[in-house]
Amino acid sequence: MGDALGAPFEFSREGAFSARFPAPDGDGEMCGGGGWDPGEATDDTQMAVHVAESLLERDGLDLPDLFARFQRWVTDGPKDVGLQTEDVLTNGLPWDLAAAIHFQTTHRAAGNGSLMRAATSAVYFAHAGRQATMNAARRIAALTHGDSAAWEGTAIYHELIRVALDGGDLLAAIPDTLDELDPDHRDRYAVVLAPDWHPEQATEFNGAVWPCLGSAVWALRTTGSFEQALRAALDLGGDTDTVAAVTGGLAGASYGLSAIPIRWTEPLHVPLPGSGGRTLRLPDLLDLAERLDQGCAESVVGL
Ligand SMILES: [Mg+2]
Repeated sequence: MGDALGAPFEFSREGAFSARFPAPDGDGEMCGGGGWDPGEATDDTQMAVHVAESLLERDGLDLPDLFARFQRWVTDGPKDVGLQTEDVLTNGLPWDLAAAIHFQTTHRAAGNGSLMRAATSAVYFAHAGRQATMNAARRIAALTHGDSAAWEGTAIYHELIRVALDGGDLLAAIPDTLDELDPDHRDRYAVVLAPDWHPEQATEFNGAVWPCLGSAVWALRTTGSFEQALRAALDLGGDTDTVAAVTGGLAGASYGLSAIPIRWTEPLHVPLPGSGGRTLRLPDLLDLAERLDQGCAESVVGL
C-alpha cells in the first residue's frame, strides 16, 4: 500500500503528499504519475511477492531458488530496480558470491533494498520465534546486500513484525531487539530507533537502510492509525515508495487489515515481471498473506 501510494512521489520534497492531498480524499490519493498507474506497486512489492512465492512453493528458505527468481524478475524488465540490486543480480556470479563480491569491490551495500521487500518473509517466519525470524531475514538480505548493516536492519524489521503479529507493542520491543543485533551495528540502530529521533536528524539519504527503518518506526510512533502513519512517511519525501512500504509493513502488523482504507486497497495491483505476465490484485494478495501466515511452522526447523 505504501509502495503504491509513494511511487508517484519518489524524490519529491518534504510535505509534497499532504500539499496535494491536505485531507483524506475520496478516490484521489492513489493518483499514479511518474510512469506509474494509480495503485500500481513497484519493485519493492514485486520482490516481496517473489520472496513469498519462493517460501511457499519451496516450503521454506531456498536461497538459490529465490536468487533465481530475482534474476528472472530483473531480466524481465521491471519498471524500476535499485542500482545495487540490479548490479548483484546481473553480475554473472553465483547466488552465494554475487552480493559479497559486489560489496568487496564497491564498499557500498547498505541501501534499503533488502528491507523494502521483507514484509512477506516477516509474516512467514513470525511463528518461528525471534532467533529464527531474525536469522532468516539476514540470509535473505544477504542475497543482494553484502553489507551486514542491511542484514541487521532487515532482522530488526522481521522481529518487530513478529512482535506486532503476536499482539505485542513493537515499539516497546525495540530495546530487546537491539540486544539481539551484531554488536558492531547496535549503536547505529539504537540512534535511529530512539524515541526522540526525528528523520531530520538522518545523516544519510533515506534510501540507506538506517534512516529508512528509523523513519518507518518514527512514522508509526508519532501517529495513531495506519492511514496517518503512511501519510507521515509519504510526507518525508525522498525514497517515498520504499519508506512508505516499510512503514506499511509495521503499521499493517500493528493495526490489522481492517485499518486499511478500501479506497486504497481497491486500485492496488502488482504487475509481476518474471512470472509470465501475471498481475496480482487484492484477492491474490490476501490469499498470499493467509498462506504466509500458516506456512512456516515445520519448514523452519533447523534454521
Ligand atoms: Mg520502488
